[in-house]
Amino acid sequence: MNEQPTYFSRNRPISLEHHWLPFTPNRDFRTDPRLIARAEGMYYYTPDDRPVLDMSGALWCSHLGHGRKEIGQAIAEQFPVLDYAPSFGFGHTISFELADRLSAILPEGLGHILFTNSGSESCDTAIKVAYAYHHARGQSGRKKIIGRQKGYHGVGFGGLSAGGITANRTAFGSWLPADHLRHTHLPQKNAFTRGLPEHGVELAEELAELIAFHDASTVAAVVVEPVIGAGGVYLPPKGYLKRLREICDQTGVLLILDEVITGFGRLGSPFASQEFDVKPDITTMAKGLTAATVPMGAVAVADFVHDEIMARGPEGGVELLHGYTYSAHPLACAASIACLDVYERENLLTRASGPAGDALGDALFSLRDLPEVVDIRHYGFIGAVEFRPGEKPGKRGQAIFKACWNEGLMVRALGDIIAVSPPLVIEQDHVGEFAEKFRRAVETTL
Ligand code: PLP
Repeated sequence: MNEQPTYFSRNRPISLEHHWLPFTPNRDFRTDPRLIARAEGMYYYTPDDRPVLDMSGALWCSHLGHGRKEIGQAIAEQFPVLDYAPSFGFGHTISFELADRLSAILPEGLGHILFTNSGSESCDTAIKVAYAYHHARGQSGRKKIIGRQKGYHGVGFGGLSAGGITANRTAFGSWLPADHLRHTHLPQKNAFTRGLPEHGVELAEELAELIAFHDASTVAAVVVEPVIGAGGVYLPPKGYLKRLREICDQTGVLLILDEVITGFGRLGSPFASQEFDVKPDITTMAKGLTAATVPMGAVAVADFVHDEIMARGPEGGVELLHGYTYSAHPLACAASIACLDVYERENLLTRASGPAGDALGDALFSLRDLPEVVDIRHYGFIGAVEFRPGEKPGKRGQAIFKACWNEGLMVRALGDIIAVSPPLVIEQDHVGEFAEKFRRAVETTL
């Protein structure tokens, strides 16, 4: 009889039955688990201390690799000073310090920051701020949200409705009135483009069409990721985001850029809006905000949006009836400020635009000769290798993902697309190790 091996946490035996893992085939996982026991630098380690190179920045979020002592120290120092304080009707100093620091690196004019605990909460918060803005202006009829096919904006009912990954909605429905732009993936024209695709700017015109179709007086906001991440790593065609901005300006629709993945240096600028020179009205962030060391998200709101909501609030009353118990948790604030210090000291927020980002691109494109590769995409510290689907969509991607793990490589499988988004501290040796292990994983799978 095949005995299940025993697993341990801190020397205590554990079962794999009770923790229901998110976005995971749990039944499969329990028979073939990928367990992580610890992490350091660019590597995770399995319970038997096998190193696994973290090429996905965990979940697009561990921007500093793992176990940075400065961050741990900042959290430990904060705890005895102030472990927690409520933000409803009170304020604690470190959250204002963090908001000042963030507004200094955000695009000018996005000077008002709401704190959340995750990317999903940030997306729902952004949508609610857009609603509150239109309501304040006497345009409460503006409730429709326009998202984009393949877009991912988390799992709250707002983000889910704006999101464009149909399967994520199937069991739950779409509860906000929403419509979606077509995605911009044009493999016939753009396959194997390095950097932004040349073709597809005309797809932005669909926004004007959708707004006209629904009538601008019913549309609150368009929500897009500057670079689609979880939906498959799709870069915006040249000029596409700028055109969305123009159409929003013409129609009074707010532009929400979801920078949960692209924020904090993923593309070579602090934010994608700076990299692509497009100013949003609202920006969401999470992940790199604390480099995943403590959960935290945030929403940066344009001054004119904030001012309108403030001006129309009831005299002496709450202007925005929204927030979370743990908004601006002091330990998360301490972690975030410590991350910003490291980003600044080591010039990490622009590192992806230099040789380190190019090296990742070179490594990805060196994989073009592997079997069944139909596209490679890359920009800064994000990239993807897309495989032709096998007998069942996603099966090939899953097999490669597992083979990578067995080789000691963490990547993300998005259907038959393998995505990478390494920590911003990645070095040339890691890039070489990635290319070698990935090649072996594919060659043993296909
Ligand atoms: N928005 C984007 C663009 C994301 O990539 C994600 C998560 O990957 C989210 C929102 C949701 O973030 P969270 O999982 O922290 O709720």
